Amino acid sequence: MAMHDDCIFCKIANHVIESDYIYEDNVVAAFRDMSPLAPTHVLVVPKDHYADLADGVPAETAAALLHAVDEVAKAEGITESGFRVVANAGGDAGQAVHHLHLHVLGGCRLTDDFA
Ligand code: AMP
Repeated sequence: MAMHDDCIFCKIANHVIESDYIYEDNVVAAFRDMSPLAPTHVLVVPKDHYADLADGVPAETAAALLHAVDEVAKAEGITESGFRVVANAGGDAGQAVHHLHLHVLGGCRLTDDFA
């Protein structure tokens, strides 16, 4: 599984297009959502292309995504105050970008209408 040339999150995760990165390792990148719904709204994505959580994501990649969520929470100072992780998959969830991404939301009281 590699990069898709026409995928915006492939380009950001692999620095073809630069973004506002919060965390990065060999497997994943985390960068700020361009339309933030909360003071912290960061997207954690794998560098390889998977459409969503149902696209055969290897265990190593899943672990790297969750590790990155923890790193983002620490970097943003929201580990203690709390945060929410959302992954939209498919049409009923309203997934707009078809490259697997975890939304990390925090920095304010999150009501039910967040992501
Ligand atoms: P979803 O509905 O889960 O697919 O969410 C896609 C998210 O990606 C939305 O919150 C968008 O604001 C965000 N987004 C789309 N394009 C970009 C981009 N180029 N850089 C940062 N965030 C983006």
